Amino acid sequence: MSLTVTPEGGFAEPPPGPFEVPHLSDEELAELNAEFELADAQSIIEWSARTFGPHMALAASMTDAVLIDLAVRVAPALEVVFIDTGYHFPETLETVEMVRRRYGLNLRIMTVAPHAEELWKVDPGNCCSAVKVGQLDRALAGKAGWMSGLRRDEAPSRATAPIVARDLRGLVKVNPLANWTSAQVDTYIAEHNVPVNPLVHQGYPSIGCMPCTQKVEPGGDPRSGRWTGSDKTECGLHLS
Ligand code: SF4
Repeated sequence: MSLTVTPEGGFAEPPPGPFEVPHLSDEELAELNAEFELADAQSIIEWSARTFGPHMALAASMTDAVLIDLAVRVAPALEVVFIDTGYHFPETLETVEMVRRRYGLNLRIMTVAPHAEELWKVDPGNCCSAVKVGQLDRALAGKAGWMSGLRRDEAPSRATAPIVARDLRGLVKVNPLANWTSAQVDTYIAEHNVPVNPLVHQGYPSIGCMPCTQKVEPGGDPRSGRWTGSDKTECGLHLS
């Protein structure tokens, strides 16, 4: 690396060139996915930060800040995206602010224009597509990869979630906690004093928008409180 002399007589490194994201074939992603089954979450996050640099974002639901706590140790400037659907519980919005202050987050809040009608009442599928998925698409424009805190033991629909794979947009999606159990999450929260949405302790193990999230009886399926009474189990953010 060549150094240049500054007007003050010191030496300065040249400005960094553009960050180049390597192209990863589907075969390479499959190999990485198999390797990551045996890796710890911190190593997976380190690989993500090294590979994607500023072209990576973390999508946060703000149920807890475990993934954020792990990620900012490696990449303090990582862009964290929260989608404000306009339908969140006040406790979730308070958690967003608490987490932002605790970690000094590079937080990007995606907001949605006020809705003329309550689409979730008549067509929750289209509501999630327009409000959640559409906002995530906007947030990820120009990115090469993104991370989420999705875990396999959260729901049968997530039981086979990969740790790394290509998503429907063609971006690389990384789920560093995919093979964590809820007990591991609880231990990490206790050991690192990680912020948690207070609703978790009020009977809401999985927290989404207020109109589509119900309490769950102790010991019940954590996702059974989401879109209760309908066939819907996912909002579409995690389809791959
Ligand atoms: S969870 Fe409910 S309110 Fe939120 S975007 Fe989906 S349908 Fe709309």
